[in-house]
Amino acid sequence: MAQAFIGLGSNLGDGKKNLRIAWQRLLEEAGRAVALSPPFLTEPQDMPSTNMFTNAVGVLETELPPYDLLARMMNVEAELGRDRKKGKDRIIDLDLLFYDDLVLNSASLTVPHPEIAKRAFVLFPLAAVSPLHVHPILHMTSLEMLNKLDRKTGVKLLAWENV
Ligand code: ADP
Ligand code: MG
Repeated sequence: MAQAFIGLGSNLGDGKKNLRIAWQRLLEEAGRAVALSPPFLTEPQDMPSTNMFTNAVGVLETELPPYDLLARMMNVEAELGRDRKKGKDRIIDLDLLFYDDLVLNSASLTVPHPEIAKRAFVLFPLAAVSPLHVHPILHMTSLEMLNKLDRKTGVKLLAWENV
């Protein structure tokens, strides 16, 4: 049994709804939920878009090996209508952030995801869900990576329920 950290993002349509549906489908396909962060509203980073993103990080326990897990993630993206032609705007993006302490670098899969330490939209939800989790290459906790980040603006905490 492995523990996988999944980054979820959406900047088309109802972001919170897209994330919830994707997380639910991923659990049906891949394993048991350990934790899900709150959603965050974030400015697009590393891409030119005016659509704000909704991001979260989920932790799941899975029996699937990493490439099988990635394949299921891509199936869920396709099922939700991910259109790879529409530039970088997307109804759903699922990234494999960590798979236990595995370090892997191949054409179709890099784990840990190489951009984690640079991205506020990953580090805020990651630190919310697992502040003391240690990055297996950088040997830094999620909180330490977040503290080191230069640019912490453009991120707003949301809640799953509208109360
Ligand atoms: P991005 O998320 O970088 O904007 P895509 O979602 O279109 O781009 O993914 C592009 C490719 O990234 C996928 O085909 C997948 O094979 C590859 N990839 C490599 N490492 C990972 C990872 N850790 N998680 C998700 N996809 C990955
Ligand atoms: Mg992706």
